[in-house]
Amino acid sequence: MALLDKYAPLAAQYRQLEEAGANPFNVPFDDVLSPTEAIIAGRQTLLLGTNNYLGLTYDPLVIEAANAASTAAGTGTTGSRIANGSYGSHKRLEEALADFYGRKHGMVFSTGYQANLGIISALAGKGDHLLLDADSHASIYDGARLGYAQVTRFRHNSPDDLANRLRRLADEPGDKVIIVEGIYSMLGDTAPLREFAAVKREYGAYLVVDEAHSLGVLGATGRGLAEQAGIEADADFIVGTFSKSLAGVGGFAVTDMEGADILRVVSRPYMFTASLPPANIAATLAALQQLRARPELRADLNANAARLYRGLAQLGFTLGPEPSPVVSAIMPSPEAAFGFWAALLKAGLYTNVSLPPATPKGLALLRSSVSAAHSPAQIDHAINLFADVGKGLGLLPETPALAAA
Ligand code: PMP
Repeated sequence: MALLDKYAPLAAQYRQLEEAGANPFNVPFDDVLSPTEAIIAGRQTLLLGTNNYLGLTYDPLVIEAANAASTAAGTGTTGSRIANGSYGSHKRLEEALADFYGRKHGMVFSTGYQANLGIISALAGKGDHLLLDADSHASIYDGARLGYAQVTRFRHNSPDDLANRLRRLADEPGDKVIIVEGIYSMLGDTAPLREFAAVKREYGAYLVVDEAHSLGVLGATGRGLAEQAGIEADADFIVGTFSKSLAGVGGFAVTDMEGADILRVVSRPYMFTASLPPANIAATLAALQQLRARPELRADLNANAARLYRGLAQLGFTLGPEPSPVVSAIMPSPEAAFGFWAALLKAGLYTNVSLPPATPKGLALLRSSVSAAHSPAQIDHAINLFADVGKGLGLLPETPALAAA
């Protein structure tokens, strides 16, 4: 028995995808041309499967900031903040994030994944209780494991189920920390945050909101769902990522909580990994400035999201419950999702396949995501490709009821 034999069934499925030449989990980007186009497997391709929500990865000011920072401060920090020091730019980015969110403290992590690991594991330890939405991102589940708190899952987006579970825990000692996301990344649905905030207040719990997919997307100034829902005062911590709207890599947490700086010496995913390199910090800071200065990016993004959602719904696809930059079509099976995805790619459109356990309710999803940088013509082209491919594969009604309406 070899060490990796435990993965044999999965390895066989993976090999099949590779042999079919259509493995959605290992797509070769030969060249990236812009936020919306790339050469994939030698073919010019429209990108509809990135998290480049504001299209800022090619923004001239963002690129210039990254280049200048590399020239001035080198390519890497070569170590962690606690062992090897904090650069001025780390502090400046933390201050800029705190300022953006109107909070006292900001803390930067090396990825969004680590921000969740670091905050969740440090806030809730042995004897405490974490209450997680059942559809939480893997980083939230992994953060829960790292901290040894007792984990209770509640039904996705159900304030009633959360309240029931908190009621049952009412006499238990320990802190209770609730974690929810702004926009959920698989179906693009949003959390009922006002109701969750009311439950949090009723039971004296703490609330962490992961705005990974909602920063730069929702809210009057782009801070996310907590801003849109008007419950920022109830969100004890906001966590998020630099890898989507902010066009970089990294993660953050902001809070008003007194004494939050102690997290820098108790949060292992903050302490025991190298800090972000100067170019990335500078690019993120420049992207944050663009996000704040150009609300029209958010308007373009949301108009594109609505256009794609409407177009795919009219074709007869079953989608998530509401338009958002993530637009997922529910496929009848993983095989259908693979087939549809591969045919779209061959036709010059890059999307994503999402499968259980990453997806809710065991769904097979063909997941698209839009950018502010898409033109309406690109969105329409994508919708037409969905129509052609869907009809060709027999995965679309020939005359969908909605299209006729
Ligand atoms: N939280 C959520 C809700 C996410 O969807 C993701 C990544 N998609 C992360 C955290 C992790 O962010 P990163 O990829 O920047 O590590």
